[in-house]
Amino acid sequence: MHTVTLIPGDGIGPEITQAARHCLEATGVKIKWEVVRAGTSAMEKYGSPLPSEVIESIKRNKVAWKGPITTPVGEGFRSVNVALRKSLNLYMCLRPYKYYPGVRGGFQDVDLIIIRENTEDLYAGIEFEHDKPETKKLIDFIHSLKGVKISDDSGISIKPISIFASRRIVETAFRYCLKNSRKKVTAVHKANIMKFSDGLFLKVAREVASRYEGKVEFEERLVDNMCMQLVQKPQNYDVLVLPNLYGDIISDLCAGLVGGLGVAPGANIGDEYAVFEPTHGSAPKYKGMNKVNPTGMILSGVMMLKFLGEEKAADRLERAVAEVIREGNKVTYDLKAHPCDPTAAGTQEMAQVIIGKIKN
Ligand code: NAD
Repeated sequence: MHTVTLIPGDGIGPEITQAARHCLEATGVKIKWEVVRAGTSAMEKYGSPLPSEVIESIKRNKVAWKGPITTPVGEGFRSVNVALRKSLNLYMCLRPYKYYPGVRGGFQDVDLIIIRENTEDLYAGIEFEHDKPETKKLIDFIHSLKGVKISDDSGISIKPISIFASRRIVETAFRYCLKNSRKKVTAVHKANIMKFSDGLFLKVAREVASRYEGKVEFEERLVDNMCMQLVQKPQNYDVLVLPNLYGDIISDLCAGLVGGLGVAPGANIGDEYAVFEPTHGSAPKYKGMNKVNPTGMILSGVMMLKFLGEEKAADRLERAVAEVIREGNKVTYDLKAHPCDPTAAGTQEMAQVIIGKIKN
């Protein structure tokens, strides 16, 4: 029996979590769920979007499965997702983007792995609001130190990139390749412009790569070129390792390559804890409509089953998902040729059809 922390999340989170939970349970793997609230529902109930019982529960169980959590744009509480990753030191964001036959608009034969650094970069949350005295002080300090005058009405975000975190994530990417019979790591950066942050990431990536020479191929790409290459010939790439912000953006691009956010899973993993979740957000406009695709959530559950050592159950569930997508009948609106197709299945209905396909 495994005990797993379950966070239903916000918006569409509770409904996809419910659907996906039924799918995982149908594999026969015994899981005891410890359900805890985070996000806007926790804010309303406990006055905090990330109550301490959430962190305590994950620390106790080591593994969590979460639905998406809303982050207010430009105001309100800071990202719970970022806080979770930081407080549990979940330094790697792992996102597999694989084409399942039957997905419309997807690129065939895409099988990409994104390994995104999760703890630093512009995501570190070191920010200075415009017109605040501390921001003015920083602007004056930079002027005195570098002779550069930043406009007084600026807001500032700091982009720290360290040798330690870069080495850790690139090492993780190479080890992932060896363990999963992958052939190539591509480091993505903008080192021609940001010489001291991305430049450092690249320098460290090259150094790590030199230790894997002959075992795993290595190449580098500027992030802008990477975007173009991915939309033209994604099949040429295997494992991408990226600093935090590029990893975030390229993840959604890759989700688009394989059929959209509805089918894209993910995981945040550290040395002690792991939190599995879909790539997508809480899509508030679809909340409570039983409309959205549960696949991203289910496939993040497949990743979790593998992590828990339940490989066979994971494979059976993934095959069931693939079969339902291939048949294309009982799938949600986003997998239909037209989003208004009246034959589109609801979230729970698609999950039930997947359950019916799980073979022993
Ligand atoms: P989103 O991913 O929630 O939705 C964007 C669009 O993608 C939706 O309007 C919908 O068309 C489509 N989509 C998303 N999930 C889908 C699904 N399961 N099935 C079918 N279509 C789906 O992105 P957003 O609207 O930019 O963000 C909404 C909120 O989610 C924000 O508050 C954001 O901060 C948060 N967010 C949370 C996480 C997380 O919890 N890890 C990740 C990303 C965004």
